[in-house]
Amino acid sequence: MDTLQKTQRVEARTNPSNNEDQAVVIGGSIAGLLTARVLADHFAEVVIIERDRLPEQPELRQGVPQSAQPHVLFARGYRILEELFPGIGGELSKAGALAIDWAREFYRFGYGGWNATTSSPSDIVSVTCSRPLLEWVIRQRLCHSPRVRFLEGYRVNGLLTNANQKVTGVSLHSKGTGVVQLPGKLVVDASGRGSQAPHWLKSLGLTPPEETVINPFLGYATRRYQAPQEFQPDWKVMLISQSPPNNTRLGYIAQIEGKEWIVTLGGYGRDFPPLDGQGFLEFAHSLPSPEFYQMIQAAKPVSPIYAHRATANRLRHYEKTPLPEGFVVLGDAVCALCPVYGQGMTVSATSVLVLRDWLHPGGKKAYCSLDFQRQLAKNNSLPWSMATTQDLRFPTTAGRNQPNWLARRLGKLLGGYTERALQRTNEDSAMHTLIMEVGHQLKSPAVLYHPQVIFRVLVG
Ligand SMILES: Cc1cc2nc3c(=O)[nH]c(=O)nc-3n(C[C@H](O)[C@H](O)[C@H](O)COP(=O)(O)OP(=O)(O)OC[C@H]3O[C@@H](n4cnc5c(N)ncnc54)[C@H](O)[C@@H]3O)c2cc1C
Repeated sequence: MDTLQKTQRVEARTNPSNNEDQAVVIGGSIAGLLTARVLADHFAEVVIIERDRLPEQPELRQGVPQSAQPHVLFARGYRILEELFPGIGGELSKAGALAIDWAREFYRFGYGGWNATTSSPSDIVSVTCSRPLLEWVIRQRLCHSPRVRFLEGYRVNGLLTNANQKVTGVSLHSKGTGVVQLPGKLVVDASGRGSQAPHWLKSLGLTPPEETVINPFLGYATRRYQAPQEFQPDWKVMLISQSPPNNTRLGYIAQIEGKEWIVTLGGYGRDFPPLDGQGFLEFAHSLPSPEFYQMIQAAKPVSPIYAHRATANRLRHYEKTPLPEGFVVLGDAVCALCPVYGQGMTVSATSVLVLRDWLHPGGKKAYCSLDFQRQLAKNNSLPWSMATTQDLRFPTTAGRNQPNWLARRLGKLLGGYTERALQRTNEDSAMHTLIMEVGHQLKSPAVLYHPQVIFRVLVG
């Protein structure tokens, strides 16, 4: 009801002559919501335009087809959420999310064994819950912001600019109203992998960004289960890991709200997991650890099996493209990553910090979009290279460049070293904690090349 009233107020304000203190965000998913939170400190009005009608409860929705799939929230992403929305961790817990300490409660099977875990608490913490719950809790917080409005059921289909190539707003349409225009001094595209911004730029006579695509042809199949009552595992998240180049399969279970498990099977190189109950179990049985199969075989499925195969790494190079002043792009619309590494939402969170820095100090008179996209490209480069370096270790991955001799040798050396470091986590809980800190973006990967760590990895 609250959301509906706000929507109506916005619809009354779609007057293209007044854009001065209004910012527009395209897409009301994770990147869009976090963007709106930051923009609300700089604009009197922030309008989030979302093509879906937003559900009143945590539910799957069409515009975010990946929302049936598991979503790991990294400790870094969780810290940023808390910074932007103080107390949100408590609200997530109240809504059913479970707190997780990744050094203690994450079990990973790889290289023939389980990782060693530490018994003492770490600060690598976040929550485990379904993706719809996470998005819903963030949205509830924004609904209470007097500066943020949702315009639901509208699809943006173009940018409005003036004679000086400055953005003045967006053109959008809905079934009810047809095409309308909404003014905005700053327009942020957070419309995800399927962003149409390259076409919008083209129709303004501008060059769309170049793209780099590295496709591992990874498929997911996900089903929810009721957790067996008698079973109280020590883990909150369990992963049977793929290992390139030959072992293409993975299995993932996370405890989530409502005493349910979200269970995912994955296969690289088009080794897609089946979507029927029997085939799903057989695929689980083929994983290198029997525990995974035993666990789900004893549990009761409570959902259909949802497939997802749009998993390619896709980087749009907006940092090299002339953009209208006041139009920027972030989130999956710029850098969509293979989901196995669980980085996407955290990258959206770090991206809005880049946006916040770009907007400072004290509000801008002119918005040099290219400056923002350059800063963002720096922010995205590490997660991009972490995901693509691993994916390219599968020979079936498409999109590789022909590296020169030196790059090939270096890649092999670093790949071998990373593998050895991961193997060490099976015996050394401190190494597991360190790898978790790097993976959760709390520490730079450079810590893995400290002499003491190298000694520990190579000698033990
Ligand atoms: C299978 C899978 C699993 C994943 N697992 C993880 C994980 O474990 N951890 C993690 O951190 N990340 C994960 N991700 C990535 C994560 O989903 C995204 O990074 C995250 O949702 C941020 O994306 P976004 O907000 O930029 O775009 P999206 O979440 O795709 O949202 C885009 C929004 O824009 C709206 N929209 C689109 N076009 C328009 C338009 N023209 N007008 C109005 N609205 C529009 C859509 O309806 C949608 O609401 C996964 C992704 C996939 C595909």
